[in-house]
Amino acid sequence: MAHIIKNTANAHERAVERVGQIAIVVALLILGMTASSVSALMLEKNLNELTDEANYIVVGNVKEVKSAWDDNKTNIYTNVTIGIEKVVKGKKIEREVIVKIQGGEVGDLKQWVEGEPEFVSGEKVLLFLSREDKGKGFILKSRFQGKYTIEGDRAINKELNRNISAKEFIDALQQRNKDPLYDVESAAGNEMPAATTTGCYYSYSDRKWTQILGGNVYVQFYKNVPDTWSTSVDNGAFAWNGVAKFSFQDHGSTGRGGPIQDGYSTVCRGTIDGPGGTLAQTTIWYHWWWPWWIAEADIKFDGAESWYAGTGTCPINQYDVWNVAAHEFGHWLQLNDLYISSASEETMYGYASIGETKKRNIYCGDIYGIRYIYGY
Ligand SMILES: [Zn+2]
Repeated sequence: MAHIIKNTANAHERAVERVGQIAIVVALLILGMTASSVSALMLEKNLNELTDEANYIVVGNVKEVKSAWDDNKTNIYTNVTIGIEKVVKGKKIEREVIVKIQGGEVGDLKQWVEGEPEFVSGEKVLLFLSREDKGKGFILKSRFQGKYTIEGDRAINKELNRNISAKEFIDALQQRNKDPLYDVESAAGNEMPAATTTGCYYSYSDRKWTQILGGNVYVQFYKNVPDTWSTSVDNGAFAWNGVAKFSFQDHGSTGRGGPIQDGYSTVCRGTIDGPGGTLAQTTIWYHWWWPWWIAEADIKFDGAESWYAGTGTCPINQYDVWNVAAHEFGHWLQLNDLYISSASEETMYGYASIGETKKRNIYCGDIYGIRYIYGY
């Protein structure tokens, strides 16, 4: 099964770069920018799976987007109020529901959570939803994979580079049992231009760690993982060292958990969503100074997965810590996930597989990306 590492950048900021096309990166350090992009290393779901797993598929309008701190004041979340227009799948649903998204913006602090999509007030959307285990809220199935924006007669998922007829899409979802969605999806085609056709790829968030006068940037991280994981986590970080004016430094072990906004950038293992789904997730906090200043970054591995922490050949039934760590640390650098298949060799490619180790070593686009951001 494919696993995804996914990182959605803000639609306006996301720019998949072809090597050499440096000018394409437009610095969107614009006052008033309300970026909040998210991604997570997840399993890729095809539409059939997503449709079967979702309790509800709805079309609706975004009425309100409201972020707040959680009760412990350690994480920001966002409640998105959706006015339901049409129920494509599911029974009995309120006319208005709240979908809870991780991350958001409160005061001058923004929390970015890998894999979580952005919502804009007034936006028309098609959502794959499930009710939360506890409480009245809803959650998106498979994060960014479960959100489409309806623009005119099109259903669009920019992260997946998918732009299809909304009517055909909704008809197909309703016909799920008779008419395999996969065929419909293929027939509808992908009408959005691919970012590029060949070469090396990267996508940059347009933010960076503070770099004084173009000097070297050192970012320290702490680990709260089993001792046996230590080398593989380090290897993932150090995969990015030595090719640009940027270095990760291991500052040892900590008892601190994560992701918690506490001033310590940590790597930990904890609960995310049980086996499958999301494998690991990066969270980044930004202060709204000029430009968005990176306050902290944290990585959490899903403890429910079966992990291989060695440095040899990863068994085919386990996920490789080093492989996943290298991808997640790439987000700390401010590189985004890539989803085009031609970028599949890059460490920042947004999907991963069980037994996979090819992300352990960064690839050409990864190198171009870090060099573009920090120089070399
Ligand atoms: Zn990612």
